[in-house]
Amino acid sequence: MLFREIIGQRAIKEQLIQSVFENRVSHAQLFLGPEGSGNFALALAYAQFISCTDRQTTDSCGVCASCRKYNKLIHPDLHFSYPFFRGGEKEDSMPDLEEWRDLVISNPYFDMEEWRSRLDAQNKQPNINKAECLNILHRLSLKAFESEYKTMIIWLPEYLKNEGNRLLKTLEEPAEKTLILLVANHQDQILNTILSRTQLIKIPALTNQDIIDYLMNTKDLPETQASRIAYLSEGNLQTALNFLKEEQSDNFHHFSSWMRMTFADKGAQIVTFVDEASKLGRENQKNLLRYGIHLIRECIMVLSGMESLVHLQSAELDFVKNFSRYMDLAKAEAIVNELEKAHYHIERNANPKILFLDVSLQFVKILKFNTLPAGTQYILN
Ligand SMILES: [Zn+2]
Repeated sequence: MLFREIIGQRAIKEQLIQSVFENRVSHAQLFLGPEGSGNFALALAYAQFISCTDRQTTDSCGVCASCRKYNKLIHPDLHFSYPFFRGGEKEDSMPDLEEWRDLVISNPYFDMEEWRSRLDAQNKQPNINKAECLNILHRLSLKAFESEYKTMIIWLPEYLKNEGNRLLKTLEEPAEKTLILLVANHQDQILNTILSRTQLIKIPALTNQDIIDYLMNTKDLPETQASRIAYLSEGNLQTALNFLKEEQSDNFHHFSSWMRMTFADKGAQIVTFVDEASKLGRENQKNLLRYGIHLIRECIMVLSGMESLVHLQSAELDFVKNFSRYMDLAKAEAIVNELEKAHYHIERNANPKILFLDVSLQFVKILKFNTLPAGTQYILN
């Protein structure tokens, strides 16, 4: 994890980098911040920076042997501990390590809900048990293999109950060149004995603007949608990602069924759809149309033989591949054209009911007949 991959939190990044250059790396630190603030990502970037053999002034180099291993989370001196859901007394976190690495690499802003669903743990209680505490102590007793430091990142020490007291001696006087980074969300749920032995690094929630910038720059959202999601997310990036996923899955559901019913010319279904779509509200209607443009453009990639450039998730990918079989380039372009026109008119306060009905009828025409829809360059096949 590089510092520059982390959203916002500029002051904290500077403070962490400075502490390394000034040789003030405290051996036990608590990265305390609300969910979705990036406290885990910051701890990981900090550990990578300390281990990097070609540190730059504002970040790790990203390419030295240490950084390359950090990128895959397989550096032999980087250890993790995290709550897990297997209940046996002798169980520790090691069997979940592969899943853990996958999760952290795919989304360093993950929360307990995501970890739970990744392990398919449903209603089970997460815990860090005695065996895991012994496992932590054992791994910290190993000699560093490649780095100057060996680092243990403990996610959610809130789950360390009294058995956590086994770690106190190590937190107080760790072996030479040992770094223990605890990443927590709730200070009041951490054992006082642990709190008093760590240096506190308080990480604020992300600002609205941080989340807006991220959604606009990385996820290509228009400002209105990015602002709305940011406002609802209250500085939690994971929440923002969840909202985005929900909106996209609603759009997918709406748009794919719209395409199917117009392709099959199902009059009654179309009337119901038009009725529902007209009640979505203007912003959602625009999002739906924009989403449709994006999806049909992916169909155009498939139809142009550039399937390898299509990056979609399972259900969307299935739809695009399937639907492309019933279309040709001219039809796909005609549909995109209709969607763009509709977007233009919705922005200018067109009556949504009339508009969605009109667009639906155009789709029926485009998809059903091999004739030339008005204003498009449709080639008979
Ligand atoms: Zn490096």
